[in-house]
Amino acid sequence: MGRHKQHKPRRPRGAEDRATTEWFGTVIHPTEGMLHLDVRQSGNGILITCSPAEVDGIPAAWPLRLVNDDNGRELTDLGAALATGQPYVLGADTGPGYETVLVFIPHLPEEGVGTLARVRTDAPAGITTWERCAERPMSLWAEAGDSLTRIVPLLGPDAPPADELEDCRLCPGCYRPVYESSSSYTVFGAGPFPVIGLCRLCAEGSTLRSLRQADVPVDPQQRTVLETVAAALP
Ligand SMILES: [Zn+2]
Repeated sequence: MGRHKQHKPRRPRGAEDRATTEWFGTVIHPTEGMLHLDVRQSGNGILITCSPAEVDGIPAAWPLRLVNDDNGRELTDLGAALATGQPYVLGADTGPGYETVLVFIPHLPEEGVGTLARVRTDAPAGITTWERCAERPMSLWAEAGDSLTRIVPLLGPDAPPADELEDCRLCPGCYRPVYESSSSYTVFGAGPFPVIGLCRLCAEGSTLRSLRQADVPVDPQQRTVLETVAAALP
């Protein structure tokens, strides 16, 4: 192609680099509370985490790692589809008698909300099972798509391989996924134990402020954590 790109052997290490290889967004749903979406570099691929998602029918975090094995083409296409609200299908896995695909379906279940799902089809009856599924506003998918498109070129040819998923814990204040590569905080309050593994927004008290403004129901466990943090803030 004759494209000569400057070789930049850099890996995300410090906080500045980290900012360029991760993105997260949250919306507050009137009945379901906080819905998070996190996009970050994971070795030579991208990790998209929906927290919560429906995982085998139960609400849980869904970390989805997509490996870059074609110079970023497929990931860039996915990013573009999310950013522009177009449907997208990615073959994920085939085995004896079954096939799974990853699909992005815009405006499902309703106008303005899109669904990312891993769907399994079993032959010969063609029974389909939605193994994983997450619904988010189209605008949040669009931001995630833009970020994905921005991060993919940073994977470069020398991004380290990641054989295993990074360990994901959920922030106790908001259930946002917190990775080894995320910033996380400990707050020492008046309680008997410090609150550990908080995301930045919870540690700063922003989460509690947003929830109060939105006036939505909050999980009692989360509320306890957030109020402990609020009490410890200067
Ligand atoms: Zn949090």
